[in-house]
Amino acid sequence: LKEKKFSLRHYPVSLLIPYFSGIILAFALRPYKMTYRQIKYFSFPGELLMRMLQMLVLPLIVSSLVTGMASLDGKASGKMGLRAVVYYMMTTIIAVFIGILMVIIIHPGKGSKDKLHREGKIEQVQTTDAFMDLVRNMFPPNLVEACFKQVRTPVPHASMPENVTGTLENVTRTLRSLQEVLSFEETIPIPGSANGVNALGLVVFSVCFGLVIGSMKQKGRALQEFFSCLNEAIMRLVAIIIWYAPVGILFLIAGKILEMDDLAVMGGQLGMYTLTVIVGLLIHSLCVLPLLYFIVTHKNPWVFIAGLLQALITALGTSSSSATLPITFRCLEENNGVDRRVTRFVLPVGATINMDGTALYEALAAIFIAQVNNFELDFGQIITISITATAASIGAAGIPQAGLVTMMIVLTSVGLPTEDITLIIAVDWFLDRLRTTTNVLGDSLGAGIVEHLSRHELDAQDSELGNSVIEEN
Ligand code: ASP
Repeated sequence: LKEKKFSLRHYPVSLLIPYFSGIILAFALRPYKMTYRQIKYFSFPGELLMRMLQMLVLPLIVSSLVTGMASLDGKASGKMGLRAVVYYMMTTIIAVFIGILMVIIIHPGKGSKDKLHREGKIEQVQTTDAFMDLVRNMFPPNLVEACFKQVRTPVPHASMPENVTGTLENVTRTLRSLQEVLSFEETIPIPGSANGVNALGLVVFSVCFGLVIGSMKQKGRALQEFFSCLNEAIMRLVAIIIWYAPVGILFLIAGKILEMDDLAVMGGQLGMYTLTVIVGLLIHSLCVLPLLYFIVTHKNPWVFIAGLLQALITALGTSSSSATLPITFRCLEENNGVDRRVTRFVLPVGATINMDGTALYEALAAIFIAQVNNFELDFGQIITISITATAASIGAAGIPQAGLVTMMIVLTSVGLPTEDITLIIAVDWFLDRLRTTTNVLGDSLGAGIVEHLSRHELDAQDSELGNSVIEEN
């Protein structure tokens, strides 16, 4: 497929209009001090968009992965999978590194007086649990349950010292009360609550299922066609929803700004922290990822990114890479002409496990909390933070503020107080939008890179298909 040339006809600037109109509208309405109920009514069109997108995510992930895997031969899918995983790991590690570097250089937590003494020993138990949980989630015992629930780390009450269990409960309680106070209903995922789809489990199942169907050749044909047809139908629904997206995004953004009690919280240490996260995310999104794309493909990354504008704005509006997935699919296939065999495979996996923005933020936030507590981290602890931040980003669901909750793994791994999540909660609604946008950008550029590297196998498969069609005729 030829690279498309950038043209305003394809990527109308009007995509940005709902976003900025939302911000302007919200600031115009803020002086009227709307009640919680009024804001809920006002943001209703936005809530509807979120629901519509979320509705499509599950069938989209399953149908595209099954179809993608079934239509690739074993060798091609293996190579493509390996390339994708190498890209995911590489970019996530770079993101974590940038996060750590930024927080050490800018040092947003300086100026705190209290010294925190903690023993990290007991917390190791939890880190292992979290890793095991990641693997556990890959194999859901019940597929239907996996559609609406993540397997929760079974906190080993008997062997877990009381204060650790207590801490987990404290955080849950704090999040709950914050939910009530800030009216964040349904946006803060509470550990163990039902709003975390076990996407990882579904991805693993769909990949294996697709591979098996593909290997069944003629016998698997009916199932392959079923999933392919389902995928096609879902994409048609996406095309309809896209018309409604600008309206929904306007109200999502405006509603969120109206909900915020006090925008002045972004002063002092918290302001510096916010700035540090923004700088880190910008370096990763606007320098590292485009450069990597350019080095591998020798194509203009900005043309590619311009084609993704709608997905990026949706990510900014919804704070959810899963909810954005349907739009990301369309942008990549329609605007950037990425091969469907690649998007079907790479995008759902990427949206589930590749979260550069989340990894960067988790490492950075953990070190910020250490700085605020005057807790000096040694080199080993910084490495532990890097590893756990990577794992936590893989385990985080692509839903709003999931990263805030998985950050408990990072904090406990080095013995930092998990309650201190509350220090950064006030700005998380905002930072979540930015890191989600980085997550979506990382997945999309990854699809472009994997397609470029897999051209050879894709062409070989095309010519094989062509030959068999000629033979059949
Ligand atoms: N909201 C992010 C996403 O959907 C996850 C996070 O909280 O970092 O990608």
